Amino acid sequence: MSDEAVSSKYRMLVFFAHPDDEAFSCGGVMALNRQRGVHTTLVCATKGEAGEISSPELADASNLGLVREQELRDAAQQMGVDDLYFLGYRDSGMAGTVENQHPNAYANASASAVVPRLVRFIRSIRPQVIITFDPTGGYGHPDHIAIHQHTIAAIRAAADSAYAPQLGKPWQAQRLFYPAFPTEMFDALVQQLIAQGIEPPSWGEGGEIEMTAQPIHARIDIRAVRSAKWAGLNAHRTQFGDNHPFRQVTEEFMLELLNDEWFELAWPEEKPAEPYDDLFAGLVGAGLAGDNTTHEG
Ligand SMILES: [Zn+2]
Repeated sequence: MSDEAVSSKYRMLVFFAHPDDEAFSCGGVMALNRQRGVHTTLVCATKGEAGEISSPELADASNLGLVREQELRDAAQQMGVDDLYFLGYRDSGMAGTVENQHPNAYANASASAVVPRLVRFIRSIRPQVIITFDPTGGYGHPDHIAIHQHTIAAIRAAADSAYAPQLGKPWQAQRLFYPAFPTEMFDALVQQLIAQGIEPPSWGEGGEIEMTAQPIHARIDIRAVRSAKWAGLNAHRTQFGDNHPFRQVTEEFMLELLNDEWFELAWPEEKPAEPYDDLFAGLVGAGLAGDNTTHEG
């Protein structure tokens, strides 16, 4: 990848751990980016080899990574991701599982191995906006926590002219966002399941999930692209089988739940008085397609 590898004026870089981390959390924003001429790069640390398999005809433990790689490629296309990269680590599984011990498990990768690779992405793509998981990894998955930590280190290093000049010219991203999931959204889904006589699940890959309330600094209306987000979610077939709670409610109910995406602004320290309605709102020179107030040549 060369310096200034992406010619679009507005660029978003997303770092996640597994295929499917992206669709629910920011699939709508990525689809909006495509409509507005914002270039989206998605970097995925693993291929989700330790994930669940919704139905045995889709995959088995020996080929799940290959299947999920293709699922993410399909999802990325549905949601308008421009470039997709895999770091090539193995899914570490939930904390305390035997998968944690695998020699290529992402959670065991050293920062000195991963951070320079992320710096290379940042310096060559030069994103204004970066998205990754919050420090809890959303629900504590070791790979989610690892990609958070590596991204934080890489954002700092990428802006430091003394750090690894061979990896490209320094670049300071302007905003770092974490996906946020308001508890009211999950409550609405739980209430709907109960109303349909279905026992609601405990959330997350290992169950017993404590959802923590996050501050909301951006609320993005994604109604215009929610069918693209829904198609992206559905591309992850091994993860969203018929028994998934998202599938047990009606599609109308689910689409209604997908009207917005929420984000916590992790950096800079200064927060907006009102939640942003656009992750790029107010950035210097903002003049996105669809915004006819500013056009720079
Ligand atoms: Zn994940």
